[in-house]
Amino acid sequence: VIKVNHLSKSFGKHVVLRDIDFSVSTGDVTCIIGASGSGKSTLLRCMNLLETPTTGEILYHGKNIADGHTDAAGYRAKVGMVFQSFNLFNNMTVLQNCMIGQTKVMKKEKEAAKTSALTYLEKVGMAPYINARPRQLSGGQKQRVAIARALAMEPEVLLFDEPTSALDPQMVGEVLDVMQQLAKEGLTMIIVTHEMAFARDVSNHVVYMSDGVIEEEGTPHQIFTDPQSIKAKDFLSRFM
Ligand code: ATP
Ligand code: MG
Repeated sequence: VIKVNHLSKSFGKHVVLRDIDFSVSTGDVTCIIGASGSGKSTLLRCMNLLETPTTGEILYHGKNIADGHTDAAGYRAKVGMVFQSFNLFNNMTVLQNCMIGQTKVMKKEKEAAKTSALTYLEKVGMAPYINARPRQLSGGQKQRVAIARALAMEPEVLLFDEPTSALDPQMVGEVLDVMQQLAKEGLTMIIVTHEMAFARDVSNHVVYMSDGVIEEEGTPHQIFTDPQSIKAKDFLSRFM
């Protein structure tokens, strides 16, 4: 579905990503792990067109979407993103948050958008809160709404950037449970996370980044039980 070719990204003189190659097939659950500052968010942001690569390509079904000519909103309906900080609209209700993208970007009728929003809010266990405002919700509830909002666009791929990092520990599980369910249903996901147990149990592909490069990648079994690179070993030893 997505193939990243020779992707590099610099901010001024600062090279943040160097020659990244990586690809994702339908149904893959890929976890991206690595130390703070290694470029994980920048890579995900490039894949969601929130950053423009300095060089290289991002192919979506074979078409380079990083060529400056892609309709970003239309592309993001297909390749959605869930953020650490939820990014909900605080002046809208939960239901409105889950409808706005459908009506504005997908040009769906209000009733159809509402039906779809309710379906996905139900799925994440947030149906009882449709008239609440984000500020009335806990962090875990807000993130579940953000996931429902992303799902309501019926994306082909969903990107997650540390979806549980801003949550109190007791709320991490409810969000990971929703994500695990989505993985089981076959949704293609790319997840930046520090939740190593989740990465090990739920993903089929793990990418370890260090200093802007993919230092090592493989199955969770390979990465978590038998990492080859010294950097990966050292990084993982801090979690075991
Ligand atoms: P974390 O685990 O802390 O989220 P990360 O792996 O997601 O880290 P990035 O956020 O991708 O790392 O950042 C990689 C590097 O790029 C960092 O050194 C950061 O300071 C730099 N960087 C990111 N965004 C920008 C920007 N807009 N302008 C300048 N530098 C940036
Ligand atoms: Mg980050």
